[in-house]
Amino acid sequence: MSENKIPLAGVIGSPIAHSKSPQIHSHWLKVNGISGHYIPIDVDRDDLEYIIRTLPRMGFVGANVTIPHKERVLEIADLVTDRAALIGAANTLIFRRDGKIHADNTDGVGFIQNVRQKAPTWEPKNGPAAVFGAGGAARAVVASLIEAGVPEVFISNRTRVRADALQDDFGKRVIVFDWVQAGNMLDDASLLVNTTSLGMIGQPPLRVPLDGLRKTTIVNDLVYAPLKTRLLAEAEETGCQVVDGLGMLLHQAVPAFERWFGVRPTVDTASRAAALR
Ligand code: NAP
Repeated sequence: MSENKIPLAGVIGSPIAHSKSPQIHSHWLKVNGISGHYIPIDVDRDDLEYIIRTLPRMGFVGANVTIPHKERVLEIADLVTDRAALIGAANTLIFRRDGKIHADNTDGVGFIQNVRQKAPTWEPKNGPAAVFGAGGAARAVVASLIEAGVPEVFISNRTRVRADALQDDFGKRVIVFDWVQAGNMLDDASLLVNTTSLGMIGQPPLRVPLDGLRKTTIVNDLVYAPLKTRLLAEAEETGCQVVDGLGMLLHQAVPAFERWFGVRPTVDTASRAAALR
């Protein structure tokens, strides 16, 4: 790309109209005075590789990737970071000047940064984390919890084999609980995370009994629509500190924006408001 081209970036998925990433990146481009653009790109599976290989020629410096392409892009990329390979999915592509396509996964970083920003007293080494769910987001969450130094990660998923697969991949610090006994994970947990889609608008709520929850447990929901899920509302009633999922969406976007546009953006009230617009 010549030096005077306007840098472009976007988010690739299908469907993509609901994505909040364009609001977030457009806000950061504006507040940082960068003359770039970030757009949603609806791509079918059959066109994925062709479009990804064409984007750099059109002036794109990178792209985010979302459902249903997060796994498939690992096969298309020329370079895959260790964390993306371990998670088995990428959410960020960087189109390098040498023509190589670099795939990374920043979901885990986004998750940890969000919890640290909203609950600065959380000390990973002080106790186990309990995780509901074993899908793509859970893999990123578990990888980052282990890297952060959490002694044990308790995990429970409706489909047990997916939780067992996480234990196989991440080792004996991951302890699997049956879905019908998921409430038992809460007794000792210093952090509780919902990575299932339960609680999202249009989905049933997460119905795990929270009787064992202690007031000192920090409760985080990855779901951000609605911002206050039933899980977070009930945890708040118990006296727990709660962390919503919008911050993760913002924090996972920070390293991508910095790589593409050369400025590290800030996650603050203005960027949260932009994401909600
Ligand atoms: P995914 O790979 O499709 O996994 C979905 C998870 O939800 C699985 O554990 C699945 O269990 C569980 N689930 C779905 N319906 C269920 C039901 N009726 N009862 C019990 N469990 C159910 O999706 P994902 O990519 O991990 O995303 C999961 C959630 O995290 C979504 O709501 C997504 O929006 C959110 N997320 C948020 C951020 C953020 O930045 N805040 C980032 C990534 C994802 P089974 O294995 O049994 O199907």
